[in-house]
This record gives sequence, C-alpha cells and structure tokens, in this order.
Amino acid sequence: MSEEGDGEAASGALSDGEAVVAAVEAVADRIEAERDHLTDLDSAIGDADHGGNMARGWAAAAEAARDLDDPDPQTVCKTVGKTLMAEVGGASGPLFGGSLVFASAELDDGVTAESAVAFAETYLEKVEDRGDARVGDQTMVDALTPAVHTFKKSIETDELSPLEALAKAVDAAERGVAFTVPIRAKKGRASYLGWRSVGHQDPGATSALYILEELLATAADALDSETPDVDATSPTIPDESEEATASDPEGD
Ligand code: ADP
Ligand code: MG
Repeated sequence: MSEEGDGEAASGALSDGEAVVAAVEAVADRIEAERDHLTDLDSAIGDADHGGNMARGWAAAAEAARDLDDPDPQTVCKTVGKTLMAEVGGASGPLFGGSLVFASAELDDGVTAESAVAFAETYLEKVEDRGDARVGDQTMVDALTPAVHTFKKSIETDELSPLEALAKAVDAAERGVAFTVPIRAKKGRASYLGWRSVGHQDPGATSALYILEELLATAADALDSETPDVDATSPTIPDESEEATASDPEGD
C-alpha cells in the first residue's frame, strides 16, 4: 500500500501490485494453516466445509495472482475475487470473492489511503447486499463492519497512517469475531440451529480476521515497518511515532 497517496510505491523492492500478490500468498498460507480450525468451527454450527472451501479457493487465488504478468493492485484483486467465486463455493465464496471483484473498481488509480477506504466500504456494502446480513446476525459482517468503520475513521478523522489504521481495523475485527460468540445466528446455515447457535464463533468472521491480519503483516513488511501495536477503542494515537521514535510512552 502506498503511504500518504504517494504514487510511488513506498515498498522498497516491491511494486504495489507485487505487494498485493505477496498479501494473497500470505493469506493462502494462513488459511491453509487454519484449515482444520475453520473446519472445526463450521462443524459446530454448519456443515464442516469452510476450512476446505477457503483453503482450496485461496490456494487457487494465490496461483492465479502469481501467474499475472506485472500486475497492478486492481488486476490482482479482480483475479483473486474471480478465482474465489469459482473455487470456494458455499455461501462464503460469492461473498468473499464477488465483493472483491466489485470493490476492485475503487482501485482504478492504485492503492492510496483514500482509495483503500473506498475499497473497504464498497466491499462491506457488497457483502451486506449479497448476504442480506447486518451486524448481529453472526456472520462475517460482524468482523468486517467494525474493521471497515474503524479503518475509515482512523484515516479520515484521526488522520492515522494507513498502516496504523489497518492495525486498528484488525483489532476491531478481533472484537467483532468475539462478538459472534454470544449472539444467535440469523443468516446462513448456522441460523438453522436457532438458539443453539449461541456460544459458537462464526467461521466466516474468523476467516475475515485472518485475511485482515495477513494484509496487515504484508503491508508492514512491504513498508519495512513494525506492525503497530494499537487498540481499536483507544483515542487517536498522537504523533509520538514522529516525535520520539524509540521512547516508551508512560501509560496508565
Ligand atoms: P456454507 O455455509 O454454504 O457451508 P461456508 O461454510 O464456506 O459456506 O461459509 C460459512 C460462513 O459464511 C459463515 O460462517 C458466515 O460468516 C458466512 N455467511 C453465510 N451466510 C451469510 C450471509 N447471508 N451473509 C453474510 N455472511 C454469510
Ligand atoms: Mg459450511
């Protein structure tokens, strides 16, 4: 991701497109590593296919992304989205993949802080539209909504760097995943269980968190930075990163 809307890749050796391919590869590796865990979560409230669906889809997406010749971020997102739609199946394939294809339209001019916010908002809107789910329905929307809202606010109001904003978004998504546990599923297979869905963590929300965690790790890598340690509910981070790089602020 370019910093501050600078057209030049702020990513050392990697172009923006290559950084996005690296992110897709990191997601594929992570989802493969979490395959059994995701399957276990889906066994409890669904049909035990989420780990396999996602691992297959992201492996194919990583291969398709790697095969692109000198790609830009928009082309990578479109390719990954189409591959996920074709390979993931279930409810989550069209939701994760179709929304990615749609939201990639926001990346006409590459990845800047502004286009990343537009991308995130469009992605969430599309997931909500397609799945007809909202916060509180025990779906991936419960992880994506706090992540996208926090990302937008962190960029537009708090004027944080894209990396800090993404770190806050990841923290928010983690809270969203935790929120799926004590609530009842209203959409997807888990809703068939009625009140028995209460007490279970949603698999799709969990995958969304893993994807965001890998985006953050890859963005930090590409920008040659540490992953910021943030709290989504903390006030705006002051400019201490610029003023006193190595100082350890005294907390309460
Ligand atoms: P399936 O439920 O068809 O077996 P998966 O197991 O791959 O598909 O994915 C299940 C996940 O998809 C759920 O955990 C949930 O996060 C998400 N999901 C299911 N239905 C919806 C929906 N209508 N809106 C948003 N997300 C949904
Ligand atoms: Mg399933």
